[in-house]
Amino acid sequence: MEFESVIGLEIHTQLLTDTKIFCGCQSTFGADPNTVTCPVCLGFPGSLPVLNKRVVEMAIRAGLATNCSIEKQSIFARKNYFYPDLPKGYQISQYDKPICLGGSIPIEHKGEERTVGITRIHIEEDPGKLIHDQDVDSLLDLNRSGTPLIEIVTEPDIRSASEAYDFLVALKQILEYLGVSDCNMEEGSLRCDANVSIRPMGETKLGTKTEVKNMNSFRAVEKALEYEIRRQKEVVGSGQSIVQETLLWDADKNITQSMRSKEDAHDYRYFPEPDLIPLTFEESWINEIEMFLPELPLKRKQRFMSNYELSSEHAQVLTDSKPVADYFEKVYKICKDPKLTANWVMSEVLRVSKEKKVTVNQLALTPQRLGTILSYIENETISPAAAKKVINKVEEENRDPTELIEEMGLTQISDTSELEAVVKSILDENPSEVERYKNGEKKLISFFMGQSMRATKGKGNPKEINAILSQLLG
Ligand code: ADP
Ligand code: MG
Ligand code: ZN
Repeated sequence: MEFESVIGLEIHTQLLTDTKIFCGCQSTFGADPNTVTCPVCLGFPGSLPVLNKRVVEMAIRAGLATNCSIEKQSIFARKNYFYPDLPKGYQISQYDKPICLGGSIPIEHKGEERTVGITRIHIEEDPGKLIHDQDVDSLLDLNRSGTPLIEIVTEPDIRSASEAYDFLVALKQILEYLGVSDCNMEEGSLRCDANVSIRPMGETKLGTKTEVKNMNSFRAVEKALEYEIRRQKEVVGSGQSIVQETLLWDADKNITQSMRSKEDAHDYRYFPEPDLIPLTFEESWINEIEMFLPELPLKRKQRFMSNYELSSEHAQVLTDSKPVADYFEKVYKICKDPKLTANWVMSEVLRVSKEKKVTVNQLALTPQRLGTILSYIENETISPAAAKKVINKVEEENRDPTELIEEMGLTQISDTSELEAVVKSILDENPSEVERYKNGEKKLISFFMGQSMRATKGKGNPKEINAILSQLLG
């Protein structure tokens, strides 16, 4: 029998607020353990939570960007469970009345557009962190306690492990574009639980699912799902049935292992948080937030393809991150040649930013400066090779390219008679190559080209040289 897999994801992502969700403590990563805490996030009896407005704003941004309806009234609830990283004994979350409901995210998968439904987005706080890998007993760091999160829950609309991967990439991009989260999985600011079941092709009822946790990268999510789908098919194939349970992904062994049989919502004894009133706000605030939403990544990619006639691959690279897309459009405004701009941003700009380990908007090579350099290439003042040198120098010395081009003597030689003399002497010095060329070894043209470029110290205008070569060689 043929089976299809059915996947739904639950994604926790940390919001980029300055302070925590219910107190004034800084929301930072990497501070000394237990130094960024107060009675509220330590869960002292009698301390009271005060909701951070920025958290609500970011949740609304995420909801609007994923086509959810924003609920005029939502309710905070206590999710009760005992664990040492949760001193209060409950986590403040939202349960049956979350802030965002019923959205969808368009994604591209294998070149086709698909839509993944979003069931809900709710706001909650993160517990603290237990550190087990010490020689001593387990250690507890409560800096993370009270860090604001949103949990995004998808419909079971995903049909393969690789589609889950593409969805996560798309979601991460959206959240980054919104400035809602940095989605850094290593630092735990994005975590994904993957729910998966299988069912016979054509069946519409859902099968029994398992939930996989503990993946620390999108590739790990993909691998864990591949493994789990294979395992479920084997179980069903051997006549047994799937047991609903929570599994942990073991990245060293590449297998899932049972963590616990699945708990139910009633195990948490959810009830409305008595210390917080229902969350309500004016429609006008939502409209205001909506007005300031950026153009979203997929839309922007599609616009790059139609406006600038870029290939899907190039448009993808250029819109992967908002700073790069913004950078591209600023350079384009100056140089007006989208292909040239795309090539230089994708090669040089991304190279330099990677080498320097900074984002493109932190480079000394500003869009204005690159735009100027590209204009010089276009009007053949400098060669592409010279432009690369200028770019490195601009980045090194944080100086104006025009000034540097003069100082470095990179202005291109386009003077035909001067170049003709150079090319003639190259041909004279290499009679046997000229002979071979004339006998049909046409690829020697690049040899002559290279020699001429070297003779002009890279300053010869390649187009001119090419024209002269063709003419002299007949
Ligand atoms: P739970 O109460 O176990 O957390 P939910 O119904 O809240 O389950 O769903 C959690 C996630 O699991 C959602 O993303 C949902 O789309 C997905 N899901 C639910 N049932 C299935 C199923 N049978 N197969 C695959 N995914 C499922
Ligand atoms: Mg769940
Ligand atoms: Zn605090």
